[in-house]
Amino acid sequence: MSPLDHGIDHNDARPHAIPEEAPTRTPRRPGFRTAAVHAGQEPDPHTGAVIPPIYQTSTFTQTGVETLKNGYEYSRGGNPTRNALETQLAALEHGSAAYAFASGIAAEDALLRSTLRPGNTVVAVAETYGGTHRLLSQLYARWGVATEFIAPGDDAARERALAAPEARVVWLETPTNPLLTIVDIRDWADAAHAHGALLFVDNTFASPATQNPLTLGADAVVHSTTKYIGGHSDVLGGAVVVGDAAWEDQPLADLVQFQQFAGGAVAGPQDAFLTSRGLKTLGVRMRQHAENAEVIARWLQGHRAVDRVYYPGLPDHPGHEIAARQMTGFGGIVSLGLRGGEAAARRVAEATQVFGLSVSLGGVESLISHPATMTHGSTKGTPQAPPSDVVRLSVGIEDVEDLIEDLDAALATA
Ligand code: PLP
Repeated sequence: MSPLDHGIDHNDARPHAIPEEAPTRTPRRPGFRTAAVHAGQEPDPHTGAVIPPIYQTSTFTQTGVETLKNGYEYSRGGNPTRNALETQLAALEHGSAAYAFASGIAAEDALLRSTLRPGNTVVAVAETYGGTHRLLSQLYARWGVATEFIAPGDDAARERALAAPEARVVWLETPTNPLLTIVDIRDWADAAHAHGALLFVDNTFASPATQNPLTLGADAVVHSTTKYIGGHSDVLGGAVVVGDAAWEDQPLADLVQFQQFAGGAVAGPQDAFLTSRGLKTLGVRMRQHAENAEVIARWLQGHRAVDRVYYPGLPDHPGHEIAARQMTGFGGIVSLGLRGGEAAARRVAEATQVFGLSVSLGGVESLISHPATMTHGSTKGTPQAPPSDVVRLSVGIEDVEDLIEDLDAALATA
């Protein structure tokens, strides 16, 4: 039996957890970083290669018209490289199964379509990634699925929305993109379940290294693996991880797997391999992202050009206490509002040298963006549009002194 068969200790954030006493007969639960390196990554049984090979194949030969070799038939249904990534993801999110997709949006779409039908309503926490807002309000609306956006903290509106029998799915992100609002996952899970709805959480910003929504009551977790999980800005991908929930008398896992096969937006073998490789170092990277982000957030608080700093690791952040309870770190994204308004925000975003002006986040390199016109452009004119004086920093793992020097020079233009 592999040590990973005993589950994972996700909260083991100690740098060097060396047992003080000789190991007892009860196997220690592997820590997050151990599972990230080993889950689903057994050496190749044919050659002993330490890294499982990339199965770059669309199809598999069969032993008979109705018999398959090791269960593989066609790569849309299953591919060993993709399955290795899915095993790794399920282990790290405390899930029973994971499904890898071609992008984060494809994963969101597959999860939502596996549970919704025309006439249903999604109850969504108002601050979501712009692409999620577009998917729900522009694409799903045309297919008869409405979305009710609820401001985080507006419990009365949430109750009203959930009381409608059409409300079948609750969608949230925490921390939110780009304002880093913290949403209490357990509280939203209880509210959704009290009305017979499912709770789905987009865990992209926190990553499984710092938050595991399934352990807090969520029924499924979605990732844009393009971000922290891949971690190197070189591959698009998405994932759905499910627990043991059932929906309309079927395991949610089966519904998502069917959607993956029938909808077909799967991760290809090369992309799955790159994502899997990135995922192995997630725990180490997230520590450095968070360490740098906290130093930068504190430094920004004292800067004359800065009006507001959004970072859940700051003690005066309104969601700090909930974040400290439901996360094991505060992540690597920092947003700031500029005293000089939108014009200053645009100037700063265009002035950095080390921070690249780019959408996306979660890579080892630092990026800066102006969400109102870039990632969240599709929310323009809606109540969900982020303030136009805000810039978002995806703080990378570079030397923090270099990042501060870069920001200082850019803020001089504000
Ligand atoms: N969820 C969040 C929080 C995101 O930031 C993004 C992309 O920026 C997505 C989902 C969509 O992922 P992808 O771009 O991989 O489709």
